[in-house]
Amino acid sequence: MTERVLCVSSRAPPSPALSWVGRNLAGEGGQVALLVADLEAPPPLSGPVDRTYRVTDPAFDRGRGDHWAAAITEAARAFKPTIVVTGPSKVEQEALARAAAGLSAPVITKGRRVRAAADGVHAERDLLSGNAVGTETASGRPVFVSLAEEPTVTGEAGRPSSATETVSLAVSLPTYRFRRVSMQPKPAQEVDLEAADRIVSVGRGLQRKEDLPLVEALATALGAAVGCTRPIAAESGWLSDDHWVGLTGHRVRPSLYVAVGISGAAQHLVGMRDSKLVVAINKDANAPIFDQADYQVVGDLYTIVPELTRQLTAAKGSR
Ligand SMILES: Cc1cc2nc3c(=O)[nH]c(=O)nc-3n(C[C@H](O)[C@H](O)[C@H](O)COP(=O)(O)OP(=O)(O)OC[C@H]3O[C@@H](n4cnc5c(N)ncnc54)[C@H](O)[C@@H]3O)c2cc1C
Repeated sequence: MTERVLCVSSRAPPSPALSWVGRNLAGEGGQVALLVADLEAPPPLSGPVDRTYRVTDPAFDRGRGDHWAAAITEAARAFKPTIVVTGPSKVEQEALARAAAGLSAPVITKGRRVRAAADGVHAERDLLSGNAVGTETASGRPVFVSLAEEPTVTGEAGRPSSATETVSLAVSLPTYRFRRVSMQPKPAQEVDLEAADRIVSVGRGLQRKEDLPLVEALATALGAAVGCTRPIAAESGWLSDDHWVGLTGHRVRPSLYVAVGISGAAQHLVGMRDSKLVVAINKDANAPIFDQADYQVVGDLYTIVPELTRQLTAAKGSR
């Protein structure tokens, strides 16, 4: 079965890995097109695409979902895709939903392991706060799919195309009155938890914000980043969202995750369950976090954490 796959990348530069997702879906003999908004730079020709649709209108705003939706609609008219696929960014998901609604096409959002078959397009999706995985099927064509994560793998399946054609795409942008008043850069990240190899994470077992240095000292002794549960970031505001682990926070996969005063709610576990080694410190021997922990320390964090820090620091000093 061959497909005509339109890949939509709002990133600058566009993701070459997304083109490979398209190539894998297209199958032998299928066609892959890439839609980009490339206002200044020449179009990127990396990746196995047969055709690049390039939006060059200076009025096109790559941060607007409605502009991308108009571009997808136009590219779909020209290319007649059987599958449209985007990355996971908010703007891409909004654009996909708008364009699909305009074309009355089914949408699968945040899909993993997307697969095309005669009976439809199948994708795995997280269910029940990420504690289960279901397979969703959209039958008919075209099907619009957004990915759960930015793809990273390039190459392998299928042959790269021998010739990539670049087509300038004229897009009729929405005319309603919507104006960007200002743009502010996102503040620099305090910590990149998703890249951290070691994390000491703190929960509501900590009584006061003033006690955070206890946890920070342990993190320093371990060469770890500081993470937290949602209440510590979203409710108390003791740490910024950059530190928040879980379903609605960051999904982390360090080699060491130390959970300090964390109960182990399902929404937190989803974010840290790919950690290689988990140490949990909790005064409640029945806390659910212990079911995930390789090392279970039952006791008061106010006693254990400073002692652990002291011993780790002493051990380092004696080396
Ligand atoms: C839609 C939705 C999304 C959510 N997303 C997230 C998310 O992304 N991330 C997230 O973390 N949560 C999330 N939550 C919240 C989640 O359900 C829990 O409420 C939260 O994870 C609990 O945080 P906690 O473990 O810090 O607090 P608690 O559940 O209150 O646990 C505190 C723990 O500290 C222990 N403790 C207390 N004192 C001490 C002490 N002195 N020494 C040692 N241990 C002590 C207690 O025994 C307890 O186990 C979400 C909830 C919803 C509804």
